[in-house]
Amino acid sequence: MHKFIHSAFVLTSSAILWAADAPKLGYTTTPLIPGTTWHVHDGDRPQPRIVTAGESFSHKAPAPSDAVILFDGKDIGQWQQGDGSPAKWKIEDGFMEVAPKTGSIRTRNKFADFQLHLEFATPIKVEGNGQGRGNSGILLNGIYEIQVLDSHKNPTYPDGQCGGLYGQIPPLVNASKAPGVWQSYDIIFESPRWDKESKILKKANVTLIHNGVVLHHKREYTGTTPHQNNGNYNRPHPAEMYIELQDHNNPMRFRNIWLRPIGEYDKP
Ligand code: MG
Repeated sequence: MHKFIHSAFVLTSSAILWAADAPKLGYTTTPLIPGTTWHVHDGDRPQPRIVTAGESFSHKAPAPSDAVILFDGKDIGQWQQGDGSPAKWKIEDGFMEVAPKTGSIRTRNKFADFQLHLEFATPIKVEGNGQGRGNSGILLNGIYEIQVLDSHKNPTYPDGQCGGLYGQIPPLVNASKAPGVWQSYDIIFESPRWDKESKILKKANVTLIHNGVVLHHKREYTGTTPHQNNGNYNRPHPAEMYIELQDHNNPMRFRNIWLRPIGEYDKP
């Protein structure tokens, strides 16, 4: 009994020590996120529960017949640099890879409301921690980010985890796979709309399925997704905008990217 109490005490005190020594995961000096009691990138926000995704969802989901093929594993022609010049990312055997510091790439064509499938893999060689490990992002309309990150055994602030609406809403769960393993995002997105007086009529919203697991169901962005700050809808833009893939200095891989514009009921 004495032994048990002793070891329990040791455990408790080491847990306290660990907590005191643990690196801070986020920020509490940032503004509160509208409608919540959490700060932007709050490290104290609950960490999403870990779910082990099934094996079959990620791999080469075939494009439906009416899909726009944005990347087939070989041709990067649907993508360009921010200045309109040809995309500088590397094409390897069936995938493209971020060439760090060449810049983010964006679609040549623009889309408003759509279903988007893409597959990605974080670097097999694990380097860096938190936001520095396996970071990229899907920037919807070029400005509303769904985070892409190596969130496999890589603690960071929850609203910056893989599948987070960056700086706003953490994923419901952490369904990330190990470094180097192909993963899938299935995204349903609706662009925001403004009225003629630049008043927001409809905020951007997104549904996200990661490796076959729901991370968000029709969640609204509170605005753009800047680092350490709240975004807004102060700058109206057309409903049709490009999609951007982020260069965050990590050699992330992407493949099998296709998109279907969402149609309207009774308008075949
Ligand atoms: Mg990112």
